[in-house]
Amino acid sequence: MPVFEVRGVSQRYGGTPPVTALESIDLAVGEGEFVVLLGPSGCGKSTLLELLAGLQEPTEGDVLLDGAPISGPDRRVGVAFQDASLFPWRTLQQNVEVGLEFRGVPAGERRRRSRTQLEAVGLAGFEGKYPHQLSGGMRQRAGIARALVSDPEVLLMDEPFGAVDHLTRITLQEELLELWERHRRTVVFVTHDVGEAVFLADRIVLLSPRPGRIFREFSIDEPRPRTRGDRGLLDREAEVYAALHELDRIAELEEVAR
Ligand code: ADP
Repeated sequence: MPVFEVRGVSQRYGGTPPVTALESIDLAVGEGEFVVLLGPSGCGKSTLLELLAGLQEPTEGDVLLDGAPISGPDRRVGVAFQDASLFPWRTLQQNVEVGLEFRGVPAGERRRRSRTQLEAVGLAGFEGKYPHQLSGGMRQRAGIARALVSDPEVLLMDEPFGAVDHLTRITLQEELLELWERHRRTVVFVTHDVGEAVFLADRIVLLSPRPGRIFREFSIDEPRPRTRGDRGLLDREAEVYAALHELDRIAELEEVAR
């Protein structure tokens, strides 16, 4: 059984003019799979991720987690967003503990789990620091530690490395893969960066905008651990770029037809 199943999902937003953010989306995500949602801005990637996170309900269709409809945020799902959204008045350790506190996990266990998780993302020794005392990359790592500390079945990530410089981004991608290869949790990851998508994914789902639809899927079966710049990965990047150019041409033709 897939972990997530999206069946015939459309998502419309009211307003003038109304927007069809997603149309007729069918998608299944298998256990332990690393799926990347890729596409230009406005093609509905974040909307789809929010549906999986239970933060929105679809206008049409069904979104299932482990075979049952999603009715709201769920413990089995950890979420990490672009800005890491840490509380500035809390230390790193207190930030990572937030979800455990909500659940009434005793202080000793919270402390142990948050420290272990901070260590796993390379932040041992920074537990007592506040977010403003850290670099952007460190804040992102803390955001990931916070998402993982509850030991979720699934990790949803919305452009988690969008706000850091290129070299930090590359390091964070490698660290994320190391973590993933150790635990093989299911990941759904949003990006508009082709290189990042190909390097990370088992499968890339390319969305097209207005309305957001699945345009094409790519299985990236290059062996792991992967080496950046590897011939096979570069060939796959070229295929994805070709599909993006096709998307552009279609958009131009539609523009002319209008
Ligand atoms: P992406 O993540 O691919 O950039 P989004 O899911 O953020 O795409 O947005 C898809 C479309 O839906 C865009 O046209 C966006 O402007 C619109 N949209 C997203 N959220 C809302 C909202 N809450 N209200 C109205 N329109 C929205």
